[in-house]
Amino acid sequence: MARSLLSHFPILSNSTSPLASSLSCAIAPSKCFPRHLFGRPKASSFQCLCTLSVSEPAVPETSSSVRKRIVSGVQPTGSIHLGNYLGAIKNWIELQNSYDTLFFIVDLHAITLPYETQQLAKSTRDTAAIYLACGVDTSKASVFVQSHVRAHVELMWLLSSATPIGWLNKMIQFKEKSRKAGDENVSVSLLTYPVLMASDILLYQSDFVPVGEDQKQHLELTRELAERVNYLYGGRKWKKLGGRGGAIFKVPEPLIPPAGARVMSLTDGLSKMSKSSPSDQSRINLLDSKDVIANKIKRCKTDSSTGLIFAPSTFIISAVSML
Ligand code: ATP
Ligand code: MG
Repeated sequence: MARSLLSHFPILSNSTSPLASSLSCAIAPSKCFPRHLFGRPKASSFQCLCTLSVSEPAVPETSSSVRKRIVSGVQPTGSIHLGNYLGAIKNWIELQNSYDTLFFIVDLHAITLPYETQQLAKSTRDTAAIYLACGVDTSKASVFVQSHVRAHVELMWLLSSATPIGWLNKMIQFKEKSRKAGDENVSVSLLTYPVLMASDILLYQSDFVPVGEDQKQHLELTRELAERVNYLYGGRKWKKLGGRGGAIFKVPEPLIPPAGARVMSLTDGLSKMSKSSPSDQSRINLLDSKDVIANKIKRCKTDSSTGLIFAPSTFIISAVSML
């Protein structure tokens, strides 16, 4: 079994594999960006429109491939809010100047909770538009839709087979989201979501992943999974089978901003601001007008102390009286 599984992992470096051809598609933004975002039929969420030939190199040996690589993404689950901006997108803008950056719209993550197909398609486009409006530059960064690169799901399946279920049962986000959704009806994919996230990251041999604090635990799982696969199938075992030996996956580091990594909900001081929260009053959307934002802040739940408190990784608005 080890032998057959191992034979799957090294295809990451094989430029003639479907996995590698999907990968090359993701790292050629000038070719893929317009088709990925605007060329897909409305009714279908998951049809891949990429038609790159398998002979295309997986990772061109240019100077940019020597740069450290960064991947990050946002789920098209609703309107992008201040937390997404401060925790993730704002940081991408600086990073794209010095790193090899891949910013995707993680639509496969968005279907782990109930969704509406047309709304998902619209949110996917809106999320891409917000990336650009915030300053993501497609001449520097690769921007694409996760489901258009089949390799994410293919690698996820392989990684799932190396993931102990106990690791997933410990995920706080699964516990919280499944409790809110009603434990009985929750989908299996909500539990296995962190494996897909690991695949999103490991597929590209990423060095760093800029995320908000809520993703820290998932990133830790990604790191442990990379180490586990390297231990189980890499090194000498891989070499004996004719591979190059050494580590199969790079172990990525999280990049968590010193401020703004956990922007709190406006209506529940114990929860973070979230796209999927049913109440629009709980968040400041990037597309809200000035008046709407002022209104939301005036009505938001406050602490007993007055003033604005900046903690190292928390941004808490604690006083209406400031306005
Ligand atoms: P959902 O409720 O659907 O999970 P979300 O608001 O949590 O949506 P995600 O798409 O899951 O947003 O996360 C996108 C990025 O934004 C991630 O890097 C995540 O860590 C970051 N992020 C999400 N919410 C916050 C927040 N309240 N403060 C800081 N960063 C956040
Ligand atoms: Mg989230």
